[in-house]
Amino acid sequence: MNYISTRNGVTTVSSDYAILSGIAEDGGLYVPKDIPKIDIFEVQSLANMSYAEASAHCMIKFLDEFSKEDIQDFSRQAYAGFSCDDTVPLVPIGSNFCMELYHGPTMAFKDMALQMLPFLMQESKIKQRDSKRTLILVATSGDTGKAALDGFADADGIDICVFYPADGVSPAQRLQMVTQKGSNVHVCAVKGNFDDTQTGVKALFLDENFNKKLSAKGYALSSANSINWGRLLPQISYYIWAYAKLLDSGNIANGEKINFVVPTGNFGNILAAYYAMLMGLPVNRLICASNSNNVLTDFFNTGDYVSRRPFFKTLSPSMDILISSNLERLLFETNNRDAESVKQMMFKLKEEGSYTVSEDIAQTLRKNFWAGYCSDVMTKRRIKSIYSEFNYVIDPHTAVGFDVYSQYREATHDLSKTVLVSTASPFKFCADVLSSLDAALEVSALDDFELGEKLCGYGLQMPDPLNALKGAEILHNNICSKEDMGREIETFLSK
Ligand SMILES: *Cc1c(COP(=O)(O)O)cnc(C)c1O
Repeated sequence: MNYISTRNGVTTVSSDYAILSGIAEDGGLYVPKDIPKIDIFEVQSLANMSYAEASAHCMIKFLDEFSKEDIQDFSRQAYAGFSCDDTVPLVPIGSNFCMELYHGPTMAFKDMALQMLPFLMQESKIKQRDSKRTLILVATSGDTGKAALDGFADADGIDICVFYPADGVSPAQRLQMVTQKGSNVHVCAVKGNFDDTQTGVKALFLDENFNKKLSAKGYALSSANSINWGRLLPQISYYIWAYAKLLDSGNIANGEKINFVVPTGNFGNILAAYYAMLMGLPVNRLICASNSNNVLTDFFNTGDYVSRRPFFKTLSPSMDILISSNLERLLFETNNRDAESVKQMMFKLKEEGSYTVSEDIAQTLRKNFWAGYCSDVMTKRRIKSIYSEFNYVIDPHTAVGFDVYSQYREATHDLSKTVLVSTASPFKFCADVLSSLDAALEVSALDDFELGEKLCGYGLQMPDPLNALKGAEILHNNICSKEDMGREIETFLSK
């Protein structure tokens, strides 16, 4: 399987090269040169496998250079630590289903990919005969950071450095990161919002001087953000798995098209669904749910992507993003893989903060996607109404998805079977979930553990990862400005 850059389209690299480097040298993102297919009988057969086996079956199609046995083995290890037997449960909610992706060690869907990526990366290093130490640089809006730290802690030949926006993450998210153990981990807050943090990290990747300095120290940079194909790939599997399970349980007919609703930030999760669709999975619509940072809603509805706009801190911080990096891959695919036009749009985005797609492309996009957004007030109301109606507790990100789905139903009257993707455990956002369920509760008087216990009163069990945080020692107290991120890393590496 060869991979090409969205800004070149011609030069091919191997899957191990693409995974190890993360981002292409021309600043583009790697995509498979040819998209492998999966037919409906193959999909059906996945229902009899464990999640780890089914996921390996899907991933191997994109990884010619890897052995089947290795991928199966990696997948088994990656999903062994999930806290429920079927890894990714599909919970019936009315006539639809909620796919819970948060049963991994850090209680958010990022574990689905970040428990797998370290294995892919270590094996890629072997295949590339890479003798350098790999430095994984991560910009996180909250959940990626911890998931990457947990996945990469004490991995051979790899160091990891996570930057998070100083006041852009929830208390539980911060606590999870600053208590991370491991001889190869470094965590630092950055003054500013997530886009500042992400822009800072992206700049370091392209900073020749910085890369030279690292190289002299024996390091090479890589990325665990969803710009890395190795991050996206494990996410394709669960869309195919969901379809297999619904087919197997008789909830849909062979070939029946279904919808997926995805709470979206950097456009990684929903893009994985789109690749599942390109592989041949019968999908009707992908519903892109945003919070008040509704740059994607506007984009799908008008064809204009305008990132220069007010930035809002919301109850769903992992979606507080105005520059959705992975949209570049979607533009490449819908633009007939025309790298030159993608390059121009990305240049315009960088220089002017906006770009526009042609009316043709906007129409094609609207065939496959529907987009909407949900305010904080509506997010809280939705948490409460889903609990009242279904006795089911959801986190604020997932609530954005449920709310936008309800808007979609009202606007289209589409009755296709729908899978709503749940991206985080409600325990990760205890205070906001509880105050949505019970406006009279004084949440500010309680710490995260007391809040967790209160949440158990709604018929839930305290998750192990939250218990484990109790009394954990704070190991990382650093904070820097976005200009100083490079220096921060150098200090870390010289320790
Ligand atoms: C990361 C994250 C998202 C957004 O996913 P993208 O792949 O960035 O679109 C949504 N919800 C939660 C809880 C997340 O952690």
